Amino acid sequence: MPMDLSLFFVGTGGSIPTPRRGLPALLVRRGGDRILFDCGEGTQRQLVSSVGLSELTEIFVTHYHADHWLGLPGLLKTFDLRGRERPLAIHGPPGLDELLGLALRAAGRVRFKLDLVELRGGAVLAREGYRIAPVPVAHRSPAFGYALFEDERPGVFDPVRAERLGLTPGPEFGRVQRGETVKGVSPKQVLGPSRAGRKIVISGDTAPCETLRVAAHQADVLVHEATFAEDERERAAETGHSTAGQAAAIARDAEVRLLALTHFSTRHPVGLLREEARAAFPDTVLPRDFDAIEIPFPERGEPVLVRWTGRTPPELAPAELEQTEAGAEDVARTEDVARADDVPRAEDVAGTEDVAGARR
Ligand SMILES: [Zn+2]
Ligand SMILES: [Zn+2]
Repeated sequence: MPMDLSLFFVGTGGSIPTPRRGLPALLVRRGGDRILFDCGEGTQRQLVSSVGLSELTEIFVTHYHADHWLGLPGLLKTFDLRGRERPLAIHGPPGLDELLGLALRAAGRVRFKLDLVELRGGAVLAREGYRIAPVPVAHRSPAFGYALFEDERPGVFDPVRAERLGLTPGPEFGRVQRGETVKGVSPKQVLGPSRAGRKIVISGDTAPCETLRVAAHQADVLVHEATFAEDERERAAETGHSTAGQAAAIARDAEVRLLALTHFSTRHPVGLLREEARAAFPDTVLPRDFDAIEIPFPERGEPVLVRWTGRTPPELAPAELEQTEAGAEDVARTEDVARADDVPRAEDVAGTEDVAGARR
């Protein structure tokens, strides 16, 4: 039974939310597990407006800049009000206790058990069928990316060989594939070499980073921040961020299957970032809020961006709504065709630049 694995982009903006992009949050869904990476302000609202606020399995925070965690107090409070009983673990770089103490004073106590786990680089957390490891990255404060990688899978079953060795198709095939020795035939005799599980790597906020490149080696999906365009490479370096082109170079060198850019600032049109990234690494997508990436096992196909088709969040003003829908209708639906995001919008070009500059 193939295990579902997908990413749901809860918020794809960086620093400042816009009508179309919320602050950083990414939901990894694997089987029944729901793992949230970062929780910018407004994350619970984003979830309520899309896939719903499901019981989270656990939470990982990349670092403690406000745009990555301010949504936690409200989210925890809501879980408490809904009567959550299951304990919830929140992981992050050192400093978590201090931060969450502050946050919880603001939100009021919660009655479920909250485990605050400060991680060190090199830690590997084992879960049912997969592992999660923090990856120290290069930002202005202690910051982690995260790698989530599945356990190895059994090799490919060879039915012809199994039959030749005396097994009968049916239950005997099933048993030997599940690891049993049947009629003297061991799994090793009829299964090929074990296969790697899938791997997802999430950069958090970072300048181009060698440890992250190593961690992302042959990942199925690399989710990398792309705060700046090439013409602000210097500023990216000063602020501990990456340009879209730098993120793409990491993806290319790491030989990942798909690069998903996120953490967009209001300073650059998203279409420009796409162009710059794809020049270095064509298999790049730029998800919008509520888009998902489905990640099948390699033999079943490539990871694919699935555009959100649910209802439009009610907060959008009529003008914005029109633009969004026109964009979706006028242009073909496939990812590779130019989309509404290619057209610079007011939020991309005007006004907020000075504020954005001051904040980063
Ligand atoms: Zn950030
Ligand atoms: Zn940051």
